[in-house]
Amino acid sequence: MSWKKIEPAKRTKNIKYAIRDIVVLAKEVEKKGMEMSWLNIGDPNIFDFRTPDRLIQDTIKALKDNKNGYAPSNGIASAVDAIREEATNKGFKNIHEVFVTTGASEAIDIALTALLNPGDNFLLPAPTYPLYDAIINKLGASINRYYLDESNNWEPDIEDLESKINDKTKGILLINPNNPTGTNYSKESLQKVLDLAKKHGLLIFSDEIYDKILLDDSATYYSLASLDADAPIITFNGLSKSHLVPGFRIGWGIVTGANEYIKDYNSAMQKLVRARLSANHPEQYGIASSLLEPHINEMTLKLRERRDITYNRLSSIKGLSLVKPQAAFYAFIKMDLGIDDFTFVKKVIEKTGVVIVPGSGFGQRENTNHFRVVFLPQKEILTKAFDKLEDFIENKRWLS
Ligand code: PLP
Repeated sequence: MSWKKIEPAKRTKNIKYAIRDIVVLAKEVEKKGMEMSWLNIGDPNIFDFRTPDRLIQDTIKALKDNKNGYAPSNGIASAVDAIREEATNKGFKNIHEVFVTTGASEAIDIALTALLNPGDNFLLPAPTYPLYDAIINKLGASINRYYLDESNNWEPDIEDLESKINDKTKGILLINPNNPTGTNYSKESLQKVLDLAKKHGLLIFSDEIYDKILLDDSATYYSLASLDADAPIITFNGLSKSHLVPGFRIGWGIVTGANEYIKDYNSAMQKLVRARLSANHPEQYGIASSLLEPHINEMTLKLRERRDITYNRLSSIKGLSLVKPQAAFYAFIKMDLGIDDFTFVKKVIEKTGVVIVPGSGFGQRENTNHFRVVFLPQKEILTKAFDKLEDFIENKRWLS
């Protein structure tokens, strides 16, 4: 008698996460002695960004006060109240439920799991943040991609969006501000998506994890749920990006809309919320102070300078073009170099040590070629990386 090989479920076959998958290749290159420039992962803490002291103090106090048991499933009262208050201040009206989760990632998983049956489809933007693909694949449901329009500031292509809706479509995702494009959507676009969702009876997910990272003083930000009190919307947010604690794993979902549309679905989500017991407990004690105090501007100022360097340098390289990012810390660059994005990125990593992610890793539409750059690193790191990239492209180093 012998042990048998364990076969993984077929549903895992299509699960990819290009942002981290690319690291496997980069680590091999690093081992050979190459100096690396990591422009691939949206983690501010690996560069010169530090968690606000207040958030650390609140968490240490909670640990010392023995808040180390399970938390209530929906989150501790002070956190839930603060999230609700902040949302109300932003103009949210029918708030049904707030639930604190292990990063926004878990809220997204719960919301999709409570919604989709095998065979259903969910509208994801192309390009998109790849976690959504992974969860939809896990659920045996289908990804239905609509295009973001690069010629129109990467706003949703409404015509394309409407043409993709069918009788198995259950919902639509908006990521605003957007990863990977850095777009802060206009009120008009948001309104058009709301109108379409209403016409076709769709649930809307609004991923607003970057809503505090707006890079221009002139920017106005519209939270989707503030535009329609009745619309069934789940808004995702969290502390990871805005408060520089991606490792805390603290996020949340906010359920809004008229009772008749959202009630049963919300109950289904709450069953899942209870079944997984609770999110991290001590870290929740920093939520209220983080949300109710003004946001740290130092981060935005640093990012603005880095965005400008990124935009100026990359748009001056022949064969590259990009829409200027208005929010978050990503730029999504179009390449017209006669080489596909995946091969390009692989060669860039191997020959220069600059780690970027191919657009196809974000589900970008076929026959287009893009790559994403994270502009969190300090000026010197960015400048060096862009020098290398410029040399690589100008001298077509992928051919040698
Ligand atoms: N949503 C978007 C658009 C993201 O870019 C990320 C992280 O990069 C997440 C969600 C995940 O956030 P969290 O760290 O709160 O799980």
